[in-house]
Amino acid sequence: MELELGTLYDDGNQFKKAMINYAVYTKRNIHYVKNEPKRVSVACVKSCPFQATGSWDESLKCFQLKTLTAVHKCNLKYSLAIVNQKWIEDRYEDKVRDNPTIGPVELKKHIKSELKLNVGICMVRRAVRAILKKINAGFQDQFRRIRDYAAEWFLEGCRKVIGLDGCFLKGLLKGEILSAVGRNSNNQMYPIAWAVVEIENTDSWRWFLGLLKTDLGNTNTYPWTIISDQQKGLTHVIQELFPDSEHRNCARHVHANWSKLHRGKVLKKHFWMCAKATTESQFQEQLKFLEKMDRTAKADLERYPPRLWCKAFFRTFVKCDAVDNNLSEAFNGTLVKA
Ligand SMILES: [Zn+2]
Repeated sequence: MELELGTLYDDGNQFKKAMINYAVYTKRNIHYVKNEPKRVSVACVKSCPFQATGSWDESLKCFQLKTLTAVHKCNLKYSLAIVNQKWIEDRYEDKVRDNPTIGPVELKKHIKSELKLNVGICMVRRAVRAILKKINAGFQDQFRRIRDYAAEWFLEGCRKVIGLDGCFLKGLLKGEILSAVGRNSNNQMYPIAWAVVEIENTDSWRWFLGLLKTDLGNTNTYPWTIISDQQKGLTHVIQELFPDSEHRNCARHVHANWSKLHRGKVLKKHFWMCAKATTESQFQEQLKFLEKMDRTAKADLERYPPRLWCKAFFRTFVKCDAVDNNLSEAFNGTLVKA
């Protein structure tokens, strides 16, 4: 990497970043001699003639490299005092976004193999922390943005049903999307809230549902019904944050799991007769039909508690009879295409 006299930079920060890059790529141990808003000078070690100065040019409205002695008589250095936390943050933000579980130890190793550069573990740790904090702040913004127009509408005219789903977006966004979808009295569905998270896990759901609960002004969670798939982590978080709400599984997910062992159109039809039964005796009757057809299929189905996926066991005062989570999935479908 060569420096060139007369090169223009947006501002002092960009000039300083260029000096650090120069040090990193040439392995020269340069340091600031002057570090002022309108004038920055760097020099190398004693007995090395290298020096460079950049200053603000009022007529060009930018920083310019104004003096340069591009000669070194020093030895290469593989750990450089000029490298700071900010430089690590800027350079590795995308890498941490791609892989948020990368720890400081691994990132330090990566820097060493990529640039032959030794950096202090404490500085790397602070940089990783700062990047993760920045990513999280972004999630908060996205969550808030939807609240402004959707949650109010939702509270006004909606059946109190929330569908939850996690959806993996390949490529478009680095992460997964968590969404909550509601239905209004015309059975139309629309997003209440969504957020992009690094991974769909218990912690990200806890964060998302915590914000959703706050946004809905929800101290009494009894009137709400939540539909989700059967992940254990999510189920725990729903019990924790919406303890008095009814929690249903998406019958389609129950079917998807159950039908791995029990395939076929006829069995599928019987499954939905069970799911859509409106009374407990109707449900038992449907189960008997199923048993006649396939004893093990019936036994396997009974491992999914019917209160979670069969209409007959749902609280009746919730007017919405959604047994599946296709509201959430339809929304995810739209997002994936977008
Ligand atoms: Zn030098």
